[in-house]
Amino acid sequence: MDLTLSDRHRALQAEVRCFIARHGHLSPPVGGGGGRVRPDRRALDWQARLIEAGYAARFVPRAYGGHGAAPDVLEAAIIAEEFTRAGVSPGIQGQGIRMLVPTLLEVGSEEQRRRWIPPTIRGEVIWCQGYSEPEAGSDLASLRTRADVVDGRFVINGQKIWTSSAHFADMMFLLCRTEPDRPRHEGLSYLLVPMDAPGIEVRPLPTMTGHATFNEVFLTDVRVPLDAVVLGRGKGWQVANVTLRHERLLLGDAAKLAHRLHRLRGLLERTRVDGVPLIRMPHWRERLMRLQGEVLAMKCHQMRLLSEAARGQDSGLGLLVVKYAGTVLAWRLTALAVDALGDAGLPYEPHDDVAEDDEPTTWYADHMYDLGLIIGGGSSNIQKNIIAERGLGMPREPRPQGGA
Ligand SMILES: Cc1cc2nc3c(=O)[nH]c(=O)nc-3n(C[C@H](O)[C@H](O)[C@H](O)COP(=O)(O)OP(=O)(O)OC[C@H]3O[C@@H](n4cnc5c(N)ncnc54)[C@H](O)[C@@H]3O)c2cc1C
Repeated sequence: MDLTLSDRHRALQAEVRCFIARHGHLSPPVGGGGGRVRPDRRALDWQARLIEAGYAARFVPRAYGGHGAAPDVLEAAIIAEEFTRAGVSPGIQGQGIRMLVPTLLEVGSEEQRRRWIPPTIRGEVIWCQGYSEPEAGSDLASLRTRADVVDGRFVINGQKIWTSSAHFADMMFLLCRTEPDRPRHEGLSYLLVPMDAPGIEVRPLPTMTGHATFNEVFLTDVRVPLDAVVLGRGKGWQVANVTLRHERLLLGDAAKLAHRLHRLRGLLERTRVDGVPLIRMPHWRERLMRLQGEVLAMKCHQMRLLSEAARGQDSGLGLLVVKYAGTVLAWRLTALAVDALGDAGLPYEPHDDVAEDDEPTTWYADHMYDLGLIIGGGSSNIQKNIIAERGLGMPREPRPQGGA
């Protein structure tokens, strides 16, 4: 991987800096650990501006409303870095944009891509992920929500849990059982379901941040057309794993880590003890530099993965470690901030739309929320199992009876 900036890349860097200098004041606040709310008008306008300039949906084909650029790892890294450095929003980052869009690009039908990708990348259609159930989290393939075909439509019955954003989402990508007689991994289908369909009830679940960011979702005789299935009946496990791959990259995203590190450094520069900034004290400086080294390693690692993907190579073990290492590192970055804030963060009051200038609240909320992300998208224990079994070729755990 050649990381030298060519003239073309240097020109892009200058162009992005110029864009940020001219338009950066229009960016919505870069969100903290608040209520994870629906994008407002300002966020939607900013997203439209970013797509037009080619800084969001850059590599999504024009036919689906994106910027249509050829994939280029260094371009993506330059754009992410400039937005991080300026403290400006890189655009909407939800489950629709970061997980469903790449899934549809990979395995969706042409009709599904044309219908769902354009409004999703604009932030107009918000998606939630209906995978987990009360008895099916780590062992996802044991899920019981089922969809039967009745009068030419799927009729869905069951319950989902921990469904982030379901309380304001327009659509859900839902994993359910459509072929009960097949082995459990072959009996699943991946359906695109409108959240306003009759028979859907959403009950919010508060988390320790004080916000209800995820939900229980009950589905009773919910009807969707047969063309709501992605890739075909019984192919749900395959599709779900495409989405999971993108989810794991999203959760361990190096751009997020770099942004956190940037804020953390600012915090240690501003926070003083006896008039001396913490960053000048060896103990704090050493902790920060250790984390800085790890963030840099994650950044280089992710660039390597991106260039391998662009060459059509399977990154194997390299890909598997991103979620585990990235979420743990994100949480450790917030832990240093919480230590630095000390008493200042104790009167934590949860409120929506926390912006980053509300420093103690943001750091404490992020610290609590990020602990959840070590579990969400597959817990660390499960990630370690996957790394050991699929990455390192170690013996597999015994599977439940009937499992594949
Ligand atoms: C913040 C957050 C957001 C989430 N958002 C969503 C969402 O939008 N959509 C969605 O569908 N789900 C979502 N989830 C659910 C998440 O995917 C599950 O919580 C996760 O897969 C774990 O499942 P579980 O909670 O049922 O725990 P369990 O599977 O019951 O696991 C309990 C504990 O046992 C351990 N364990 C289980 N099996 C093994 C094993 N074989 N080896 C070693 N240890 C094991 C686990 O690591 C965990 O510590 C979210 C979760 C969180 C925390």
